[in-house]
Amino acid sequence: MTELRKKYPLIIVGAGPAGLTSSIYASRFRVNNLVIGQLWGGLVSESHQVCNFPTEKKIKGLELAQKIKDHAQSLDASFLSDEVIAIEKNSLQGFRITTKSKKVFQAETVLLAQGTKRRKLNVRDEDKFLGKGVSYCATCDAMFYQDRIVAVVGGSDSAQTSSLYLAQVAKKVYQIYRRDKLRGEAIWIEQVEKNSKIEIIFNSQIKELKGKGNLEAVVIENNQQEERRLAVDGLFIEIGTIPHQHLTKCLGLAVNSEGYIKVSADQKTSQEGIWAAGDITDGSNNFRQIITACAEGAIAAENIFKFLQKK
Ligand SMILES: Cc1cc2nc3c(=O)[nH]c(=O)nc-3n(C[C@H](O)[C@H](O)[C@H](O)COP(=O)(O)OP(=O)(O)OC[C@H]3O[C@@H](n4cnc5c(N)ncnc54)[C@H](O)[C@@H]3O)c2cc1C
Repeated sequence: MTELRKKYPLIIVGAGPAGLTSSIYASRFRVNNLVIGQLWGGLVSESHQVCNFPTEKKIKGLELAQKIKDHAQSLDASFLSDEVIAIEKNSLQGFRITTKSKKVFQAETVLLAQGTKRRKLNVRDEDKFLGKGVSYCATCDAMFYQDRIVAVVGGSDSAQTSSLYLAQVAKKVYQIYRRDKLRGEAIWIEQVEKNSKIEIIFNSQIKELKGKGNLEAVVIENNQQEERRLAVDGLFIEIGTIPHQHLTKCLGLAVNSEGYIKVSADQKTSQEGIWAAGDITDGSNNFRQIITACAEGAIAAENIFKFLQKK
């Protein structure tokens, strides 16, 4: 790790698998880089178990995040825990980057790797019950539900893995899904279906959250418009993610209909000097995983290296 400077050939925004892998490659190409990030290791740290990373049969998400971070930090880059709040093109030399703590940097090239944030359910009182029964992270909050009853909303891999994790501590887990079939890795679906503590409720959506102070029940409605009240102590919302868009808009980058940054095969965005990698992009055939985020970060670093060499 090196001390902070004012100017860098490359500034990487985001310290998840994409940003940190890009830093590893850039450092090895001897491109001085600064990584500015908030949650070190990224969303991986919120996964209780990762079983599909080639080097690891089974690893805690936090442990994998730590390994990626340690590798990046063992090389010749700078790191700053902060939030980037603005990026503007200010000269032929590149971009001015401002952070929440009012630090200002100049970068010849920028890699955007801020990933995504959790999608909200958008039901009344969702914010009111946040931390009082409503959660977006089973890994972080499962321990509060020892021998209690919880519900998970969603039908993808993150919902399945959350249900399985919660079933280890909770008395009962309802998994509520609006469609008639779970989707994602068959191996997780099989485990959910086999688990006697998990009851899957298909074709249903959450209509209401009930409780005085803490969450006490949810009202669900099926596709026949029939309502049912389930007594639950916790509700884990796992219905996907949406890309961080503030900096994308700041720079006026081309995006797809869902706000993911459009990238070419070499991870270039629509603006010269700006690359993007990982979950924030429409790359890797929209398959948003740790390995694809790492791969995009590596491709971006190599392309940035070539770009800087030509300058
Ligand atoms: C519960 C859960 C379980 C998962 N399990 C698996 C799994 O088993 N296997 C798998 O392959 N994938 C899994 N994933 C998906 C995987 O975590 C993501 O695909 C991967 O983390 C994407 O990496 P990324 O670097 O693009 O983004 P992220 O990991 O989201 O990292 C983005 C980083 O940017 C930071 N950031 C955001 N905005 C700013 C800003 N303005 N300034 C500075 N920093 C900023 C964030 O704080 C974060 O550190 C899981 C995801 C979740 C939520």
